[in-house]
Amino acid sequence: MNQTLFKNIRIVLVGTSHPGNIGAAARAMKTMGLSRLYLVEPKQFPDHEATARASGADHLLTSAQVCTSLPEALEGCSLVIATTARMRTLSWPIMEPREMGAKVVEVAAENECAIVFGRERTGLTNEELEHCRAAVKIPTEADFSSLNLAAAVQILSYEVRQAALEIGQQEVAPEKEVGSVELATSDQLEGFYGHLEQTMIDIEFYDPTKPKYLMRRFRRLFSRTDMEKSEVQVMRGLLTASQKMVQKASKKTENKKQS
Ligand code: SAH
Repeated sequence: MNQTLFKNIRIVLVGTSHPGNIGAAARAMKTMGLSRLYLVEPKQFPDHEATARASGADHLLTSAQVCTSLPEALEGCSLVIATTARMRTLSWPIMEPREMGAKVVEVAAENECAIVFGRERTGLTNEELEHCRAAVKIPTEADFSSLNLAAAVQILSYEVRQAALEIGQQEVAPEKEVGSVELATSDQLEGFYGHLEQTMIDIEFYDPTKPKYLMRRFRRLFSRTDMEKSEVQVMRGLLTASQKMVQKASKKTENKKQS
Protein backbone atom coordinates (compact mmCIF):
# COMPACT_ATOMS: atom_id res chain seq x y z
CA MET A 1 0.00 0.00 0.00
CA ASN A 2 1.13 3.51 -0.76
CA GLN A 3 2.65 4.68 2.52
CA THR A 4 3.44 8.23 1.39
CA LEU A 5 -0.14 8.85 0.39
CA PHE A 6 -1.48 7.51 3.70
CA LYS A 7 0.97 9.62 5.70
CA ASN A 8 -0.70 12.69 4.20
CA ILE A 9 -4.09 11.75 5.64
CA ARG A 10 -5.11 12.65 9.17
CA ILE A 11 -8.17 11.60 11.10
CA VAL A 12 -9.40 14.36 13.39
CA LEU A 13 -11.77 13.57 16.28
CA VAL A 14 -13.43 16.63 17.80
CA GLY A 15 -14.53 16.75 21.44
CA THR A 16 -14.73 12.98 21.95
CA SER A 17 -16.40 12.12 25.30
CA HIS A 18 -15.61 8.44 25.63
CA PRO A 19 -11.95 7.43 25.63
CA GLY A 20 -13.02 3.94 24.50
CA ASN A 21 -14.18 5.45 21.21
CA ILE A 22 -10.76 7.03 20.68
CA GLY A 23 -9.11 3.62 21.12
CA ALA A 24 -11.61 1.91 18.83
CA ALA A 25 -11.11 4.63 16.20
CA ALA A 26 -7.33 4.09 16.36
CA ARG A 27 -7.87 0.36 15.83
CA ALA A 28 -10.19 1.05 12.88
CA MET A 29 -7.59 3.35 11.32
CA LYS A 30 -4.75 0.89 11.73
CA THR A 31 -6.65 -1.93 10.02
CA MET A 32 -6.95 0.33 6.97
CA GLY A 33 -3.34 1.56 7.01
CA LEU A 34 -3.97 5.05 8.42
CA SER A 35 -1.85 6.24 11.32
CA ARG A 36 -2.17 9.96 11.96
CA LEU A 37 -4.68 10.69 14.70
CA TYR A 38 -5.51 14.24 15.85
CA LEU A 39 -7.69 14.88 18.90
CA VAL A 40 -9.33 18.24 19.48
CA GLU A 41 -10.16 18.78 23.16
CA PRO A 42 -10.87 15.14 24.07
CA LYS A 43 -12.78 14.91 27.38
CA GLN A 44 -10.49 12.20 28.79
CA PHE A 45 -7.16 11.35 27.20
CA PRO A 46 -4.85 9.51 27.65
CA ASP A 47 -6.95 6.85 29.35
CA HIS A 48 -6.66 3.10 30.04
CA GLU A 49 -10.01 2.52 28.31
CA ALA A 50 -8.62 4.06 25.11
CA THR A 51 -5.55 1.83 25.27
CA ALA A 52 -7.68 -1.27 25.96
CA ARG A 53 -9.99 -0.61 23.00
CA ALA A 54 -7.08 0.14 20.66
CA SER A 55 -6.09 -3.56 20.94
CA GLY A 56 -2.60 -3.23 19.61
CA ALA A 57 -3.01 0.07 17.82
CA ASP A 58 -1.79 1.91 20.91
CA HIS A 59 1.16 3.50 19.13
CA LEU A 60 -1.41 5.58 17.21
CA LEU A 61 -2.55 6.85 20.60
CA THR A 62 0.94 7.66 21.84
CA SER A 63 1.71 9.56 18.66
CA ALA A 64 -1.72 11.29 18.57
CA GLN A 65 -1.62 15.08 18.40
CA VAL A 66 -3.82 16.69 21.03
CA CYS A 67 -5.01 20.15 19.91
CA THR A 68 -6.98 22.92 21.58
CA SER A 69 -8.89 24.00 18.47
CA LEU A 70 -10.02 22.64 15.11
CA PRO A 71 -7.96 25.18 13.08
CA GLU A 72 -4.87 24.01 14.97
CA ALA A 73 -5.60 20.40 14.00
CA LEU A 74 -6.13 21.41 10.36
CA GLU A 75 -2.95 23.43 9.95
CA GLY A 76 -1.26 22.61 6.65
CA CYS A 77 -4.24 20.72 5.17
CA SER A 78 -5.27 21.41 1.58
CA LEU A 79 -8.41 19.32 1.74
CA VAL A 80 -10.67 19.06 4.78
CA ILE A 81 -13.74 16.82 4.77
CA ALA A 82 -16.33 16.84 7.55
CA THR A 83 -18.49 13.86 8.45
CA THR A 84 -22.10 14.10 9.53
CA ALA A 85 -24.82 11.71 10.63
CA ARG A 86 -27.65 14.01 9.57
CA MET A 87 -28.64 16.27 6.77
CA ARG A 88 -28.43 19.79 8.07
CA THR A 89 -30.45 22.93 7.75
CA LEU A 90 -27.18 24.59 6.76
CA SER A 91 -26.77 23.73 3.09
CA TRP A 92 -23.20 22.61 2.63
CA PRO A 93 -21.85 20.46 -0.21
CA ILE A 94 -22.50 16.79 0.59
CA MET A 95 -20.30 13.97 -0.70
CA GLU A 96 -20.85 10.25 -1.00
CA PRO A 97 -18.26 8.14 0.89
CA ARG A 98 -16.92 6.73 -2.39
CA GLU A 99 -16.54 10.15 -3.92
CA MET A 100 -14.79 11.32 -0.73
CA GLY A 101 -12.32 8.40 -0.90
CA ALA A 102 -11.37 9.25 -4.48
CA LYS A 103 -10.97 12.96 -3.72
CA VAL A 104 -8.87 12.37 -0.60
CA VAL A 105 -6.58 9.94 -2.41
CA GLU A 106 -6.16 12.34 -5.33
CA VAL A 107 -5.18 15.26 -3.11
CA ALA A 108 -3.14 13.19 -0.63
CA ALA A 109 -0.73 12.17 -3.39
CA GLU A 110 0.91 15.57 -2.89
CA ASN A 111 -0.91 17.47 -0.14
CA GLU A 112 -2.14 16.97 3.40
CA CYS A 113 -5.80 16.03 3.93
CA ALA A 114 -8.05 15.70 6.97
CA ILE A 115 -11.27 13.84 7.67
CA VAL A 116 -13.06 15.37 10.66
CA PHE A 117 -15.42 13.52 13.02
CA GLY A 118 -17.77 15.08 15.57
CA ARG A 119 -18.86 14.56 19.15
CA GLU A 120 -20.77 11.39 20.08
CA ARG A 121 -23.91 13.26 21.15
CA THR A 122 -23.97 16.40 19.07
CA GLY A 123 -21.63 15.89 16.11
CA LEU A 124 -19.87 18.94 14.63
CA THR A 125 -21.14 22.50 15.02
CA ASN A 126 -22.05 24.54 11.93
CA GLU A 127 -19.04 26.73 12.63
CA GLU A 128 -16.76 23.68 12.56
CA LEU A 129 -18.40 22.50 9.35
CA GLU A 130 -17.50 25.82 7.76
CA HIS A 131 -13.81 24.91 8.03
CA CYS A 132 -14.45 21.95 5.71
CA ARG A 133 -14.76 21.74 1.94
CA ALA A 134 -17.68 19.33 2.08
CA ALA A 135 -19.47 16.96 4.41
CA VAL A 136 -19.70 13.23 3.85
CA LYS A 137 -22.69 11.25 5.06
CA ILE A 138 -22.63 7.46 5.18
CA PRO A 139 -25.98 6.40 3.71
CA THR A 140 -28.17 4.77 6.38
CA GLU A 141 -31.78 4.13 7.26
CA ALA A 142 -33.48 7.53 7.16
CA ASP A 143 -34.72 7.37 10.76
CA PHE A 144 -31.60 5.80 12.31
CA SER A 145 -28.61 7.50 10.78
CA SER A 146 -26.13 7.89 13.62
CA LEU A 147 -23.29 5.35 13.65
CA ASN A 148 -20.96 4.85 16.57
CA LEU A 149 -18.00 7.20 16.11
CA ALA A 150 -15.43 4.41 15.61
CA ALA A 151 -17.75 2.59 13.20
CA ALA A 152 -17.94 5.76 11.09
CA VAL A 153 -14.13 6.04 11.18
CA GLN A 154 -13.92 2.40 10.06
CA ILE A 155 -16.21 2.83 7.06
CA LEU A 156 -14.64 6.04 5.81
CA SER A 157 -11.07 4.76 6.31
CA TYR A 158 -12.10 1.69 4.29
CA GLU A 159 -13.33 3.91 1.47
CA VAL A 160 -9.99 5.74 1.44
CA ARG A 161 -8.17 2.42 1.28
CA GLN A 162 -10.35 1.15 -1.56
CA ALA A 163 -9.79 4.35 -3.51
CA ALA A 164 -6.03 4.01 -3.01
CA LEU A 165 -6.17 0.40 -4.23
CA GLU A 166 -8.05 1.51 -7.31
CA ILE A 167 -5.36 3.94 -8.39
CA GLY A 168 -2.76 1.17 -8.04
CA GLN A 169 -0.46 0.14 -5.27
CA GLN A 170 2.49 2.38 -5.99
CA GLU A 171 5.04 2.26 -3.18
CA VAL A 172 6.09 5.84 -3.79
CA ALA A 173 4.04 8.95 -4.45
CA PRO A 174 3.67 9.75 -8.14
CA GLU A 175 6.25 12.19 -9.42
CA LYS A 176 5.19 15.80 -9.36
CA GLU A 177 3.74 16.62 -12.75
CA VAL A 178 5.23 19.51 -14.62
CA GLY A 179 3.14 22.58 -13.83
CA SER A 180 1.41 20.86 -10.90
CA VAL A 181 -0.20 23.27 -8.50
CA GLU A 182 0.18 23.93 -4.82
CA LEU A 183 -3.24 23.99 -3.18
CA ALA A 184 -3.94 26.51 -0.43
CA THR A 185 -3.91 25.04 3.06
CA SER A 186 -6.63 25.40 5.68
CA ASP A 187 -4.65 28.03 7.61
CA GLN A 188 -3.98 30.04 4.44
CA LEU A 189 -7.72 29.93 3.66
CA GLU A 190 -8.56 31.04 7.21
CA GLY A 191 -6.15 33.97 6.78
CA PHE A 192 -7.91 34.86 3.53
CA TYR A 193 -11.42 34.66 5.08
CA GLY A 194 -10.34 36.89 7.97
CA HIS A 195 -8.85 39.39 5.50
CA LEU A 196 -11.99 39.27 3.32
CA GLU A 197 -14.23 39.93 6.32
CA GLN A 198 -12.10 42.87 7.51
CA THR A 199 -12.01 44.39 4.01
CA MET A 200 -15.78 44.09 3.63
CA ILE A 201 -16.14 45.91 6.95
CA ASP A 202 -13.64 48.61 5.85
CA ILE A 203 -15.48 49.26 2.59
CA GLU A 204 -18.81 49.21 4.49
CA PHE A 205 -20.18 46.32 2.50
CA TYR A 206 -20.62 44.22 5.60
CA ASP A 207 -21.86 45.04 9.08
CA PRO A 208 -20.55 42.44 11.57
CA THR A 209 -23.37 43.35 13.97
CA LYS A 210 -25.87 42.14 11.34
CA PRO A 211 -23.96 39.22 9.79
CA LYS A 212 -26.80 37.67 7.73
CA TYR A 213 -24.65 34.64 6.93
CA LEU A 214 -22.59 36.60 4.39
CA MET A 215 -19.29 35.08 5.51
CA ARG A 216 -20.83 31.62 5.46
CA ARG A 217 -21.95 32.21 1.86
CA PHE A 218 -18.47 33.31 0.85
CA ARG A 219 -16.91 30.32 2.58
CA ARG A 220 -19.29 28.03 0.72
CA LEU A 221 -18.51 29.72 -2.58
CA PHE A 222 -14.74 29.45 -2.19
CA SER A 223 -15.03 25.89 -0.80
CA ARG A 224 -16.41 24.82 -4.15
CA THR A 225 -13.13 25.64 -5.87
CA ASP A 226 -9.74 24.13 -5.27
CA MET A 227 -8.08 27.45 -4.45
CA GLU A 228 -4.37 27.42 -5.12
CA LYS A 229 -1.83 29.11 -2.87
CA SER A 230 -1.01 31.65 -5.59
CA GLU A 231 -4.71 32.43 -6.09
CA VAL A 232 -5.12 33.12 -2.38
CA GLN A 233 -2.14 35.47 -2.61
CA VAL A 234 -3.70 37.34 -5.57
CA MET A 235 -7.02 37.65 -3.74
CA ARG A 236 -5.26 38.99 -0.66
CA GLY A 237 -3.37 41.48 -2.84
CA LEU A 238 -6.69 42.70 -4.19
CA LEU A 239 -8.07 43.03 -0.65
CA THR A 240 -5.00 44.97 0.55
CA ALA A 241 -5.30 47.35 -2.42
CA SER A 242 -9.00 47.92 -1.63
CA GLN A 243 -8.19 48.63 2.01
CA LYS A 244 -5.51 51.15 0.98
CA MET A 245 -7.97 52.96 -1.30
CA VAL A 246 -10.48 53.31 1.54
CA GLN A 247 -7.78 54.60 3.88
CA LYS A 248 -6.69 57.17 1.27
CA ALA A 249 -10.27 58.28 0.66
CA SER A 250 -10.99 58.68 4.37
CA LYS A 251 -7.75 60.69 4.85
CA LYS A 252 -8.80 63.03 2.05
CA THR A 253 -12.18 63.66 3.68
CA GLU A 254 -10.43 64.25 7.03
CA ASN A 255 -8.11 66.84 5.44
CA LYS A 256 -11.02 68.59 3.73
CA LYS A 257 -12.89 68.81 7.03
CA GLN A 258 -9.84 70.34 8.76
CA SER A 259 -9.12 72.95 6.04
N1 SAH B 1 -26.27 13.07 16.95
C1 SAH B 1 -25.03 13.30 16.30
C2 SAH B 1 -24.40 11.98 16.02
C3 SAH B 1 -22.98 12.00 16.22
S1 SAH B 1 -22.26 10.45 15.95
C4 SAH B 1 -25.26 14.08 15.01
O1 SAH B 1 -26.38 14.28 14.69
O2 SAH B 1 -24.33 14.48 14.32
C5 SAH B 1 -20.57 10.90 16.12
C6 SAH B 1 -19.85 11.17 14.84
O3 SAH B 1 -19.75 9.95 14.07
C7 SAH B 1 -20.48 12.17 13.91
O4 SAH B 1 -20.21 13.49 14.28
C8 SAH B 1 -19.79 11.80 12.61
O5 SAH B 1 -18.49 12.30 12.63
C9 SAH B 1 -19.75 10.28 12.69
N2 SAH B 1 -20.94 9.65 12.08
C10 SAH B 1 -21.93 8.98 12.70
N3 SAH B 1 -22.85 8.56 11.81
C11 SAH B 1 -22.44 8.97 10.59
C12 SAH B 1 -22.95 8.87 9.26
N4 SAH B 1 -24.10 8.26 8.99
N5 SAH B 1 -22.23 9.41 8.26
C13 SAH B 1 -21.06 10.04 8.48
N6 SAH B 1 -20.53 10.20 9.71
C14 SAH B 1 -21.20 9.67 10.76
